[in-house]
Amino acid sequence: MPAVKKGCGMFNVTIIGAGVIGLAVAEELSSHVSNILVVEKNHTIGQETSSRHSGVIHAGIYYPVGFSKARLCREGNRLLYEFCRKRNIPHRRLGKLIVATDDDEADELWKISNQAAENGVTDLSFLSQRQIRSCEPEVRATAALFSPSTGIIDSHSLMRSFYINAESNGAIVVFNSEVTQVRLESGHYEVEINNGEHRCQTRLVVNYAGLHSDKIAALVGINIDEVPYRLKYCKGTYFSVSPSPRLNHLVYPVAHAEKEGLGIHVTVDLGDRIRFGPDTEYVRRLEYTVDERKREQFYQSVGTYLPGIQRESLHPEMSGIRPKLQGPGEQYRDFVIKEERHLGYPGFINLIGIESPGLTASIAIARHVKSLAGKYLSA
Ligand SMILES: Cc1cc2nc3c(=O)[nH]c(=O)nc-3n(C[C@H](O)[C@H](O)[C@H](O)COP(=O)(O)OP(=O)(O)OC[C@H]3O[C@@H](n4cnc5c(N)ncnc54)[C@H](O)[C@@H]3O)c2cc1C
Repeated sequence: MPAVKKGCGMFNVTIIGAGVIGLAVAEELSSHVSNILVVEKNHTIGQETSSRHSGVIHAGIYYPVGFSKARLCREGNRLLYEFCRKRNIPHRRLGKLIVATDDDEADELWKISNQAAENGVTDLSFLSQRQIRSCEPEVRATAALFSPSTGIIDSHSLMRSFYINAESNGAIVVFNSEVTQVRLESGHYEVEINNGEHRCQTRLVVNYAGLHSDKIAALVGINIDEVPYRLKYCKGTYFSVSPSPRLNHLVYPVAHAEKEGLGIHVTVDLGDRIRFGPDTEYVRRLEYTVDERKREQFYQSVGTYLPGIQRESLHPEMSGIRPKLQGPGEQYRDFVIKEERHLGYPGFINLIGIESPGLTASIAIARHVKSLAGKYLSA
């Protein structure tokens, strides 16, 4: 790993955070711009939210129309499948069923289908009870929507691929390096690492610090309560299941765009292991223990559409924490992806609130950031 020297000179771009988004941007920018530094506080890539998720390539069904989440997810879905094929990243386009267990939920499926169409997702189809029984015999549902373009991905292989390519394009990625101060000087930024151990100058700062991105924005001087960028932490817990039901698709209950999560659903990984989750629980601290007492809630939720599940077969597995811009019950917020010239910080690009579908949208987000950065770097 290359080390950044104490007074490490002038970079064109400094990216804070080597999660999936920071790495996607590092690869995208490094194929056009030289002299890029990626600064990561952990010992290696993707140790935070980018390793604690469902690994689903979403289709872009639920988001409010006009939100960048909808556009970047749809675009990202297509780009990610293309990228996986080209780079041999393990993935599977296995499809997802959204299942209704009564008439009210069946009505909701129509709303979801209309919402998807407004977002440009036009490949959903309704399944009859016979079709549901034949493709998922263990699922109990009165109606279902099928999304063929939902899939799963090995996000670690994806991140490794971004990382290796960024480095071979000349980007420098440094670990165990926490950004502790960012100052706007005349015409550039000074980025302080590990409380003054190192200092770098950079023309452009890209803040991809995930759960800490609001704090990085505050470091440079942005009033994160006024804007408002202060993040709320929303934990999502998973239970594994063994013995496991035989399922061929991802299975989701009915959920709504405005709700905090998609309901406790069934995810399948590339090793065919089945997990239930995530739920949604706003928390004050970043800690990832799994509360075993949630077993009953998970059992009751999943049992509505998978009646054969035994309570004892659920085992606490892991959790992740969503960096959300809205608190419980507050209005749903879009990703913040902005160059902050209007706040007095030209060349400072914030990415804040990059919760789901951040993984799916990673390449689309990277391209969007390239266009924001390009305008600035060529100015
Ligand atoms: C429970 C859950 C399920 C999800 N499921 C899906 C899904 O199925 N599909 C999907 O598309 N998306 C999903 N997501 C969303 C997806 O995981 C995230 O959008 C994505 O991982 C965010 O990546 P990131 O790079 O922004 O953040 P992170 O992975 O958190 O990376 C940020 C990095 O910044 C570093 N950092 C922070 N502060 C500093 C500092 N001061 N100095 C240096 N480095 C710093 C951190 O160490 C970290 O490595 C899910 C998220 C959660 C929580």
